[in-house]
Amino acid sequence: MDAHLLKPDLENYVTHLECSATGQHYPADAVQTLSDAGKPLLVRYDLPSIKKNLSKRALAERRPTLWRYKELLPLRADPISLGETFTPLIDSRELAHTLNLDQVLIKDEGRLPTGSFKARGLALAVNLAKSLGISKMAIPTNGNAGSALAAYCSAAKIESLCFCPSDTPEVNLQEMAFYGAKTFKVEGLINDCGKIARAGAERGLWFDTATLREPYRIEGKKTMGFELADQMNWELPDVILYPTGGGTGLIGMWKAFDELEAIGLIGEGRPQMIAVQAEQCAPIVRAFEQGLDHAEPWLNAQTAAAGIRVPVALGDFLILKAVRDSGGFATAVSDAEILRTQASIAKSEGILLCPEGAATAAALIRECSRGRIRPGAKVLLFNCATGLKYPMPAPVHSFNDNQPLETL
Ligand SMILES: *Cc1c(COP(=O)(O)O)cnc(C)c1O
Repeated sequence: MDAHLLKPDLENYVTHLECSATGQHYPADAVQTLSDAGKPLLVRYDLPSIKKNLSKRALAERRPTLWRYKELLPLRADPISLGETFTPLIDSRELAHTLNLDQVLIKDEGRLPTGSFKARGLALAVNLAKSLGISKMAIPTNGNAGSALAAYCSAAKIESLCFCPSDTPEVNLQEMAFYGAKTFKVEGLINDCGKIARAGAERGLWFDTATLREPYRIEGKKTMGFELADQMNWELPDVILYPTGGGTGLIGMWKAFDELEAIGLIGEGRPQMIAVQAEQCAPIVRAFEQGLDHAEPWLNAQTAAAGIRVPVALGDFLILKAVRDSGGFATAVSDAEILRTQASIAKSEGILLCPEGAATAAALIRECSRGRIRPGAKVLLFNCATGLKYPMPAPVHSFNDNQPLETL
């Protein structure tokens, strides 16, 4: 993988990569993983030039896909795409009304390719890997990241391997395998899967695409921040609740807001960022409450919301800093609250949330009653994946021929 000084086919505004802990610079025209300090690398752009060349009006004329923001993306060639459409902001009137809030918007990321927002990150990671000459990619995954990696790798003619905790739902495993990924069940949790992906990468067998171990998934995830600002007419909501596993989306949106401010598209106001976790896997909440900059690994992590069953996050310090700088906080909800909220929103509003998305709604309900979210706020929730990939209770009625239709 000697890709040093690869010239891009497409001019971009990337100046360099930067260590998120030490600020040390690295060249963007070679394959990169973590910094020498073992921390995630962030992509930096020539923001003054973008500011000169990009206007709201020019953006508005482009198609509603994540590639709309191409000046703020690291693309080195025309993108390999599976249709990364804008995702809708659904008004949840019932939640807003019962919680006495101005507005509750649910950004429904289940509409993306492979049915989750992992498509944003992996679209960028795989496109950049292709441009930089990588031919085999591996990922530790609770389900959605693997599906997205597998799909984009197939589109890009790259081999893919997915390492999944053994209790990953069959539907996710089948999806990865059907896209052509070599799919493995591993005894243990996502961090155990991560060790395998890392070991193979260290031997030069493949590229490790684990959360924040390469610089580009975060660049894809940050498009959530661009897109929601754009959809809300460049006014950000007061509060964002984000279901936090590895935290890529939260860190990415926080970066996106800074970039938008630097190019003059938004002002200095920021939403309160609230990291939502599950009570039985809440390392970020614990670190937040203890005033720590890093989170200790969570033992015996368990939750029905598999996407946030992440006991150790490499970007813990970045999540905690964004949450604190925003004046937000971290909070945990129980699986019972998650499943109850998911069922009630499906019935009362016709919106099928995934458990992770339902966790943000459950946290909203809890924090409104505790008074940490003020009445009248404009709130944004994330439904990060389609609810259709998760188990639902079986329907109860079978039709009986003798039953009068009037009684149905
Ligand atoms: C990956 C995932 C998350 C967590 O996202 P991060 O940005 O990695 O914290 C939440 N929900 C679902 C459905 C996911 O797939």
